[in-house]
Amino acid sequence: MKYVHPDIVVGEAIPEIEPRIDAQVLAIVRKFVRLGYVFIPIYVVIAIGFVFIHPSIFVLIGTMLVGLSIWVALFVRYRESLKKMKKDEWCIPFVDGMKYRAVSAGIGISLLLPMMTDIGLSLIPLMGGVWILSSGFALIAVSRRGRQPGQISCDACSYPLVGLVLPCMCPECGVSVLEAQYTTYCPRIDFPWLSKFGVLLVFFGGMGLYFGFVRSDILYDVLPSPALKAMAITNDEAFERYTQNPMSAEESNELTESLIKWGQSNWLGSPQRDWLGGRKVAGKLTEDQIEAIMEGVPPILIAGPTVMRVGDETEISLESTELNTPGSSFAVFYFFRGFELGEDSTLYSGSKEYRWWKYLHEDLYRSGSVADDPSNRPFYLIKAEHPGEVVVRGRVVVVLTDIKDLLTFVWDEDGEGVFKNKPLWVRTIDLNHTIVIESASEGGEGG
Ligand SMILES: [Zn+2]
Repeated sequence: MKYVHPDIVVGEAIPEIEPRIDAQVLAIVRKFVRLGYVFIPIYVVIAIGFVFIHPSIFVLIGTMLVGLSIWVALFVRYRESLKKMKKDEWCIPFVDGMKYRAVSAGIGISLLLPMMTDIGLSLIPLMGGVWILSSGFALIAVSRRGRQPGQISCDACSYPLVGLVLPCMCPECGVSVLEAQYTTYCPRIDFPWLSKFGVLLVFFGGMGLYFGFVRSDILYDVLPSPALKAMAITNDEAFERYTQNPMSAEESNELTESLIKWGQSNWLGSPQRDWLGGRKVAGKLTEDQIEAIMEGVPPILIAGPTVMRVGDETEISLESTELNTPGSSFAVFYFFRGFELGEDSTLYSGSKEYRWWKYLHEDLYRSGSVADDPSNRPFYLIKAEHPGEVVVRGRVVVVLTDIKDLLTFVWDEDGEGVFKNKPLWVRTIDLNHTIVIESASEGGEGG
């Protein structure tokens, strides 16, 4: 039921009233806005800073957690009040309501910052653009529909009815105001400048999106070259901008070295990877550089149990155990000849097709379809049949090369990997893993 102001008495003139404000909700909104003013800029500065210092995944997660705790702290604390605000028909003054909405939107948008730090400088106009654009639309909408505390007025046109006796005609719009239900103590706001300001914000927000999405190169044009170069290692946009300019052989080599150094312990972005791949294909990498790349690639092992009981079934697989070394930035492949189980000379799960080394290594790829697909990760289900010792053997050929060379690989009769075109870097590694098989009764439950 519509709230009717208690000061309206049938048959008496509508009095002037104190604007009806929910003081409690108002105080909460103001507190929220004040906290937001403090937290958002700090958080935005931290997050944008990371665009330049190139965070590790841990720093990114940390930033996300900081943002999330601000979000949770503010919202959990005021959740009850927010619910109340929605139900309450009493008014929050317009300006405070708008501040509240701007701060909420700001928190929401700034939370996305660390997720987007890979994007680079265009993040700033993008985020700002979204924020400003949505504020502009909100202002335009509010200027047409927004209300704030005021005198008892005509519900249809918001004209103040002070001094009139119900029922009456609205002096402004001519509507019949038959009873208190046709009035409001919360008239529509009337700030003619508001929608103009909103239109202006929409314009600037649109500009932000344009520079963020379409012309982010302009942002990099104004950066001094050393800054661009420093950012290029990890920032995709900066990298693309930097490599657009013609580079001397020395500069290219310097960039190569920096990328290799960074890539030994961090993941390279795709433009950096492609560029380095291009150097590789063009034969521009020195032997030292290739060795440096391969130093970052941890060894491959046969993973499986060391003890089994007769009747047990279990999976053996290839794995790379050092999970922190993102050598896959450099497109390392391997060929696996297959698992040989003891005296059995059959080769299980082997292939002459290349496999990506990274699928052995990265936690992410261990789950789901990648891990279950033998073309990504060789595995084989073994069954322990007789007590004794089984040595599982396998041979891998690890390669740094270009994909087109890989298509011409075969295993010869002696089990050697033969390439039609010699790859940049090749190592043949023999693996073995010993499994002791106990009889089913041995070392039973109690022993
Ligand atoms: Zn009216």
